Amino acid sequence: MLLINSELKNLIKGKVSYDEPLKRRTSLRIGGSAACWVEPSDKEDLKKLLQVIKKEALSLKVFGKGSNLLVKDSGFSGVVINLETPHFQKLVFKEKRVVAEAGVSLPTLISESARHDLGGLEFAAGIPGTVGGALMMNAGGKDGSIGPLVNWVEVMNLEGDTIRLERDNLEFSYRRSNLMGRGIILETEIRLQKREALKTLSMLKEVILEKGMTQPISQLSAGSIFKNPPTGPSAGELIEQCGLKELRVGDAEVSYRHANFIVNLGTATAADILSLIDKIQLTVFQKHGVKLELEIEIV
Ligand SMILES: Cc1cc2nc3c(=O)[nH]c(=O)nc-3n(C[C@H](O)[C@H](O)[C@H](O)COP(=O)(O)OP(=O)(O)OC[C@H]3O[C@@H](n4cnc5c(N)ncnc54)[C@H](O)[C@@H]3O)c2cc1C
Repeated sequence: MLLINSELKNLIKGKVSYDEPLKRRTSLRIGGSAACWVEPSDKEDLKKLLQVIKKEALSLKVFGKGSNLLVKDSGFSGVVINLETPHFQKLVFKEKRVVAEAGVSLPTLISESARHDLGGLEFAAGIPGTVGGALMMNAGGKDGSIGPLVNWVEVMNLEGDTIRLERDNLEFSYRRSNLMGRGIILETEIRLQKREALKTLSMLKEVILEKGMTQPISQLSAGSIFKNPPTGPSAGELIEQCGLKELRVGDAEVSYRHANFIVNLGTATAADILSLIDKIQLTVFQKHGVKLELEIEIV
């Protein structure tokens, strides 16, 4: 890493830091450090960074808000890229569409759309991610997900070329997209609907109120830990039926509000969360014969 230290400091205009604690970069507030954390200041910066990463054969991970990630206690030995810088946080509204850059947060996208009397993203209320993370995960809920609203996505591939992926080349399914492995998501165009701001606000309020009653929204979590099985009871129902609510390992606990959430009560480690995940998967398999698949990603 010594070589890369000096090289990156000279090359990159944006923020470069070493041994960056990833704990403060995830919603679970868990995990070790990244060898290197970079916030490129523009596309040229990002391109140069990707060239160094390729030349040095370094491992690479993009972080949005880290709200779907569990970072291991040993941390990440490569370069983490984060696009939450002004150059990657622009929104441009055109009639009933918005071009949103990857570093924009979903709450900002939703509230700015409402300010333009545009709605259609109410299903995403309460999802604390960025546009980049939402596209990668096809974020959504029971009332919809982001994928079907997307016209195109622009990515920078690992060679540093910018490529526009049109609707026909994009695939979105339950908490999955074919953007994985395509490079860094830069921006997207999303279709919206004409809707008065007041109407949108009341719809958002309803979604948030419902989530507040059923999910541990004021505690540290990464949202749903497991995907719902394709048929039958939801992951939360299966876990609850096993009597696992409030099961605890260290400071990691199965939420009493929603059994598909694991909360960090303060000092939980990644090892605590992983041990709890193992116990849940084993118990649910023994009782229901269902193998729960992770929705969160382990880094
Ligand atoms: C309280 C809470 C509630 C939640 N509720 C929901 C919900 O209702 N529905 C739902 O779907 N999710 C939910 N989540 C999970 C999470 O917020 C979403 O998956 C969100 O879309 C992740 O966005 P992020 O920016 O945090 O991405 P991260 O967690 O940082 O990353 C997720 C993935 O996207 C990749 N990625 C991020 N940005 C880019 C980019 N620019 N280019 C390439 N790859 C990128 C990362 O490498 C990683 O693979 C919830 C989480 C919490 C904490």
